[in-house]
Amino acid sequence: MKKRKISFFRRLYYDIINLLFPIVCAGCGRKLFFRHEVLCITCEHALPKTNYHRMPWNPIEKKLVGRCEIHRASALYFSEKNAIVRSLLYSLKYKRNEILGRHLGLLFARELKESIFAQYDLIIPVPLHPSKQRMRGFNQCQPFAEGLSEGLGIEINNYSVYRKIANPSQTHLNRADRWDNVAGIFDVRENQNFRDRKILLIDDVITTGSTLEACAEAIHQCKPKEISILTIAVASS
Ligand SMILES: [Zn+2]
Repeated sequence: MKKRKISFFRRLYYDIINLLFPIVCAGCGRKLFFRHEVLCITCEHALPKTNYHRMPWNPIEKKLVGRCEIHRASALYFSEKNAIVRSLLYSLKYKRNEILGRHLGLLFARELKESIFAQYDLIIPVPLHPSKQRMRGFNQCQPFAEGLSEGLGIEINNYSVYRKIANPSQTHLNRADRWDNVAGIFDVRENQNFRDRKILLIDDVITTGSTLEACAEAIHQCKPKEISILTIAVASS
């Protein structure tokens, strides 16, 4: 009886809060009815999963081969021509929707639970340059990394790798120019943290893979056991 009363008042409280400050689905903008929800059921089911974690030698891995030593790579969703995924990435990055980022990390962790991606030692979100992070207020990879960390029980290290050069945006560059733009921009402090460890490198989107490649290259100087990559979305370059 007591339990029922609490849930009734909690529901009433959420209803009032929702009325005053409606929360909306980050995918389609429709109003959500429960405060713990992040995406509506329609969007969550419509999201195009890659399932690349079940596919060794998947298109991301093929894209990276011969460029840097990456053990495995996967992304949760395809972003190509998918308005919902693009809207999620926008909401995370430019509207600072950290709850969404964390939610996507938890969703991905659920998928990865039985895979080799669950057997890693450290999660590293690709860092922003401090000036960019100050401007944006946060690193958009961080909440996604936190969701993965919580879901997989793997520790995050977000202080050892840093961006020493503030490179211009990659958005309008081709693959060769993207590499020139990011080569040598990352470095590692306290590099003994990575020796013989299995590292999951995290970013929001992989396009040509140049940024992740540059970051992995810096981490490889510290002799980790292996590096794999996970992102929210994969876009074709
Ligand atoms: Zn929706």
